[in-house]
Amino acid sequence: MGFRERGIEYKTPEQIVSMRVAGLLVGQTLELLRSSVRAGISTGELDAIAEDNIRSAGGTPSFKGYGQPPFPGTICASVNDEVVHGVPGDRALCEGDIISIDCGAIVDGWHGDAAITVAVGEVPDEVTELMRVTEQSMWRGIGAARLGGKVSDISHAIEAYVRGQGDYGILEDFTGHGIGTEMHQPPNVPNYGKPGRGPKLVRGLALAVEPMVTLGSKETEVLEDDWTIVTDDASWAAHYEHTFTLTPDGAWVLTALDGGEEQLAALGVPFGGR
Ligand code: MG
Ligand code: MG
Repeated sequence: MGFRERGIEYKTPEQIVSMRVAGLLVGQTLELLRSSVRAGISTGELDAIAEDNIRSAGGTPSFKGYGQPPFPGTICASVNDEVVHGVPGDRALCEGDIISIDCGAIVDGWHGDAAITVAVGEVPDEVTELMRVTEQSMWRGIGAARLGGKVSDISHAIEAYVRGQGDYGILEDFTGHGIGTEMHQPPNVPNYGKPGRGPKLVRGLALAVEPMVTLGSKETEVLEDDWTIVTDDASWAAHYEHTFTLTPDGAWVLTALDGGEEQLAALGVPFGGR
């Protein structure tokens, strides 16, 4: 492989298989939460479902106790104009809300990290479209990654797709990241920028790709809980995330139940999972 970038953790194929176990637990937990979202349920109840599911599988929630002040939840639950890092609690979901759920788990020391945005019942068409554009931009980003390419190839593909779909805000203050024995590792994976820059995409690199897209401003504020990030213009936001890696065969999305095979095939991207 030769050239190595400072601070990046490169995993062996066996370690990637271990990361798949953590990734699958995160993916399964998010699907459980997706099916649990309904008007009237509180974000704290969703959090309890997630924690129970992760711990019963022998995993540990990675968000709990993370950072300063220590994050209190197993999930980040961000509703409507909350973009990311929403603290779960008493807030009950209402018909017409959207909730972004971010979840991380550790199994045998390896991390998985993924996020989905879910509508609570019927939402306006422009909100459905925001969710579609954000999720699809994540897949375009993952689909742009090739062995021998550069990290910003992902960034560029995300931005180009979102810009081509309409007038959206793309957060710049928060990025995707390397992941492995820690949840957040180098390199950062911005959701905008020119291609061909940053560290080389090589075997053993695992990245969390996570576009955060709004119907308005890309600027944000932090609420008094020191965690919840809201848009500064109260526009609604969506957030999707997957952890993936590249094998000699193609891309392998470690937090997707099918490894990303279906979505990658739709983009004509080779599937690198097993
Ligand atoms: Mg996450
Ligand atoms: Mg992440």
